[in-house]
Amino acid sequence: MTSPPFHYARPSGIDDALAAAAVPGAMYLAGGTDLLPLWKAAAIAPTRVIDITRLALATITATEGGLALGALARLSDVARDPNVVGKYGLIAEAIANSASGQIRNMATVGGNLLQRTRCPYYRSADLPCNKRQPGSGCGALNGENRQAALFGGSASCVATHPSDLAVALATLGAEIVIAGRSGERRVPITQFYRLPSDAPDKDTTLEQGELIKAVFVPDAMRFAGRTSFLKIRDRASFEFAVVSVAAALRVDAGVIVEARLAAGGIAPMPWRLTASESALIGKPAVEATFTAAAQAATDGAKALADNGFKIELLRRAVARALQDIGGSK
Ligand code: SF4
Repeated sequence: MTSPPFHYARPSGIDDALAAAAVPGAMYLAGGTDLLPLWKAAAIAPTRVIDITRLALATITATEGGLALGALARLSDVARDPNVVGKYGLIAEAIANSASGQIRNMATVGGNLLQRTRCPYYRSADLPCNKRQPGSGCGALNGENRQAALFGGSASCVATHPSDLAVALATLGAEIVIAGRSGERRVPITQFYRLPSDAPDKDTTLEQGELIKAVFVPDAMRFAGRTSFLKIRDRASFEFAVVSVAAALRVDAGVIVEARLAAGGIAPMPWRLTASESALIGKPAVEATFTAAAQAATDGAKALADNGFKIELLRRAVARALQDIGGSK
């Protein structure tokens, strides 16, 4: 099959990149680990490819206030950065559980957050999928939906977001730094992603041509020694999450004073487990508290024909993650 023609540009400055990407059909290319397979599968057809690998956006900077990850920082570099390992172990752990070593060497922070769903209908150009081709229908709704969302789905789309890093970042309250032609803006990661509603082709709140410059993570030292990333997948070597949980606790004299929890594999975005957090705060860090929080994690879950098993899996994953970090230290 012949690919439609496209225009290629490799700017060396952000302003040039933003200008080149302003037209509909333009897409940024960084590590290419998701864009190229999607392109080859005819799931996407960019008319203009803006190669951003020359932009100076690969720095990893730690200050007293937090951690700034450049959008073009490679996942493998982030996971072994001494500041990340020492103060933001949850991020290093999430990346270590992501993809294969070869992919982590190529994939970038920004690209990881923007990767598209693994829903098989999305990646097969001849199957119905509202996300790939608006108005064609959702094949997964009454078809193969073992991977589908428990939360946040709609009649238009029930896909889940595949990023492990996003789950850790949601737990740590990260912000996405976005560059556009009219300036720069910052968005909390939980507001960066969109629920599908009736427009599932748009995964995020990015406008055409906007570019992720960096991710800022507020200082997380208060959680030191009490963070956990637990990923359940169909095979141990490398695979996307069936369910994942990122947890961070602050415990004072045996009482939980702060709790952050997010889950992956269950929603169109990293899903903060706010009911579980409420069930933890002010309670003793003991088994019964963790069990109650795990139960609360599935409040409001809506299962389809094949994904109901995720409800109990999510409860058990939350309980296990909390048990791992909630004991006396
Ligand atoms: Fe497409 Fe979303 Fe339906 Fe999957 S769940 S087939 S991505 S519309």
